[in-house]
Amino acid sequence: MSTKDKKSWRTATQLVRGGTSRSAFDETSEAIFLTSGYVYPSAEDAEVAFKGDKQRYIYSRYANPTLAVFEERLALLEGAKHCVATASGMAAVFAALASQLKAGDRVVASRALFGSCLYIVQDQLPKFGVETVFVDGTNLKDWEQALSQPTTLVFMETPSNPCLDVIDIAAVSELAHAAGAKVVVDNVFATPILQRPIDLGADIVIYSATKHIDGQGRTLGGAIVTNDDEFIADHLTPWMRHTGPAMSPFTAWVLLKGLETLSVRVRQHCENAHRVATHLDTCPGVSTVLYPGLPSHPHHKLAMSQMDNSGSTLIAFDLAGGKEAAFKMLNALNIIDISNNLGDAKSLITHPSTTTHQRLSYEEKSALGITEGMVRLSVGLEDAEDLIDDLDQALTAAR
Ligand SMILES: *Cc1c(COP(=O)(O)O)cnc(C)c1O
Repeated sequence: MSTKDKKSWRTATQLVRGGTSRSAFDETSEAIFLTSGYVYPSAEDAEVAFKGDKQRYIYSRYANPTLAVFEERLALLEGAKHCVATASGMAAVFAALASQLKAGDRVVASRALFGSCLYIVQDQLPKFGVETVFVDGTNLKDWEQALSQPTTLVFMETPSNPCLDVIDIAAVSELAHAAGAKVVVDNVFATPILQRPIDLGADIVIYSATKHIDGQGRTLGGAIVTNDDEFIADHLTPWMRHTGPAMSPFTAWVLLKGLETLSVRVRQHCENAHRVATHLDTCPGVSTVLYPGLPSHPHHKLAMSQMDNSGSTLIAFDLAGGKEAAFKMLNALNIIDISNNLGDAKSLITHPSTTTHQRLSYEEKSALGITEGMVRLSVGLEDAEDLIDDLDQALTAAR
């Protein structure tokens, strides 16, 4: 089958069949090539392999057949030319940024970043002489001002953690390109099912496959997706080969199985989340519900147009009784687990101010909209009515 035919497949077909290549045994499910190295029929063949004249596997730090299937499947889903799998989402973020930045470069990033991404941009990059500037991602004037001088990279996360702010990827990409910058989008919360940043003008998309792509809380993984040939050839490929953040073939196989059900799961997560968010909006003791799928969300319209008319799999909400009420509610839940993970079949809830964002000062939390009464709920695949019942009884216990 030609590549062209595969590209015309619709999403559900690509997720199940994209990239599949069978071994001599004609297995139905993709094989796991759990091997670090490869052998050559002759010394001459080894010489040719190292010259790179012929496509051939050399070492699994460079490439591996199971990873290749995962990478092709995810690239097809994004309509992109390249996908590179990494050991974790953070390995993907660091490889994408560090492989192409050098001293004297300038990075403009949205302030509401996942904690470890913030650490890389705020604490690591400046150590290597990279200037970093933070903006309120939802404010185009802020971007415009920051991008009025030459910039190397723009980095953003949308929707953001935990307040689910939505950034206009197309508008920011236009400003970024005018400033000479490439645009990197952390698309973990939206997933490639709801949002395709490359179609909106972004250059590089980052995933923590740990979240929705696995979807069942089993493994860490990450990926970088792009159409940028120069970035791949001159920066990312040598970085991956020589610094070693490669994904394990076993992980690639688990994530391959995750991709097969990704679309169905994400749609059901969103449907459940919409029902739970709509209910929470009517609950006494809940002062604010932040859910991009509700018209009350400050960026509802943008979310609908940018994320395929879907809300999100996550909800943030505020308890009027502050931290005390939030802790009481979390402790009273019977089904929903207390966990900082997200995108799992199991519904997971966390109190960002004392967990994921504990390191931030009061001022930094306030700037991001994180209050003491705020909780973040990753809505799972249980029956939405059971989740609503569980939240209701816990909210009553917390009052
Ligand atoms: C989890 C997460 C990451 C990091 O991914 P890991 O797989 O945990 O390394 C990066 N960005 C966002 C938005 C995340 O939720």
